[in-house]
Amino acid sequence: MNFEPDFIVIGGGFAGLTFANVAANKNKKVLIIERRNHIGGNSYDCYDSHGILVHLYGPHIFHTNHKEVFDYLSSFDEFIKYEHKVLGNIDGVLVPIPFNFTSLEKLLPTKASTLKEKLLSKYKKDSRVSIFDLLNDDDEMIKEFGNYVFEKVFAHYTAKQWGTTIDKVDTSVINRVPVVLGYNDLYFSDKYQFMPKKGFTNLFERMIDNENIKIMLSTDANELVSLKDGKILFEDKLFIGKVIYTGEIDALFNFKYGRLPYRSLNLKFEHINKTNFQTNSVVNYLTSEKFTRITEFKYLTGQSAEGKTTILKEYPLFSSDNNEAFYPIQNAINFEKYNKYISLANNYKNLYLLGRLAEYKYYNMDIVVKNALNLAADLTK
Ligand code: FAD
Ligand code: UDP
Repeated sequence: MNFEPDFIVIGGGFAGLTFANVAANKNKKVLIIERRNHIGGNSYDCYDSHGILVHLYGPHIFHTNHKEVFDYLSSFDEFIKYEHKVLGNIDGVLVPIPFNFTSLEKLLPTKASTLKEKLLSKYKKDSRVSIFDLLNDDDEMIKEFGNYVFEKVFAHYTAKQWGTTIDKVDTSVINRVPVVLGYNDLYFSDKYQFMPKKGFTNLFERMIDNENIKIMLSTDANELVSLKDGKILFEDKLFIGKVIYTGEIDALFNFKYGRLPYRSLNLKFEHINKTNFQTNSVVNYLTSEKFTRITEFKYLTGQSAEGKTTILKEYPLFSSDNNEAFYPIQNAINFEKYNKYISLANNYKNLYLLGRLAEYKYYNMDIVVKNALNLAADLTK
């Protein structure tokens, strides 16, 4: 290959592309190797055969409190305001999720006013509290309310989603979704809640539109890059540049310590000849159905299309070799295994691990971008 890269970036998701973009702008040559036949990783979007823009690996909503991340990404496309609202179907009744005072009034009308009064005497109005705070409250009525929300919103859904009882799921995962002590019905509380006007894939294409970047698609880097005795070989020759690895760390070391498990999804798209299927972008099925949620993409992307719409039902899938790696399963055993892989990685001074898979963390897109911006700034000083 007549292109001598300073960096080899393995994986073309948000992590790899952000790194490549920043390094290329600093005049470094970057080779990106991507296993799939497209860039964008799990945040990839595309038009389906009916002309509806869909997120092929599940709904992706951008939200962040990091101004630098918003400023950086919005330099590639206009960002349009999108405030995500989720409804939960609880025993056939649709209520806002996070569970808020509207949900409370709808589902527990006789207790609502006493509960609101009690809650607001203890917590700040509009605060977003952890379900575990309510469960541990010393007021019996608040505790009972906590138990109700725990059962109806979290316990059944989490068991369905993660294939295990809720007590085996890391509390940091559950705490991603609060209980809102007020009427705010936004899913996220971040300062910046926007979507790229032309979609994520257009944004990714703009990020790598640079002659310093070459990309190999449909190529598993583990076939071209190998690690041996502290040295990195590329196509069997010593590579003295830096390698940014954003894939699964266990695969990089040939599963030496066994597989790191991920939760995955069976994604079933359905096209419907109606302008709309549901009243908002996402409905979580909290007490019924085998699927967890239904997304209707047009609400997320702002696309208008008369008489047609595409929806997605997500069915949970658990670890097996061929499933797409979506969600790291955070627990002590897996972290211990991960740390053994880190010890191996530490033997390679020019190897850097970046992103959701390589770092085995439940990162949102914005944190992956933030970390990639920082690493790229560090390595191109
Ligand atoms: P990825 O997007 O996974 O990209 C890694 C890339 O590396 C992949 O393309 C993979 O094919 C490639 N790769 C791996 N190994 C190799 C190899 N050996 N050779 C070549 N290529 C390789 N975040 C939000 O902020 N908001 C959301 O609403 C949101 N919703 C989500 C919904 C779902 C269903 C999922 C799964 C995730 C969601 N996320 C969301 C998280 C978001 O997807 C991640 O934060 C982001 O995609 C991480 O980017 P990444 O580059 O680290 O990893
Ligand atoms: N969760 C839940 N009920 C809900 C929404 C979320 O129990 O209505 C739990 C569930 O365990 C889920 C976790 O909270 O895995 C995190 O939810 P989030 O919406 O952040 O999941 P993601 O969008 O990452 O799939």
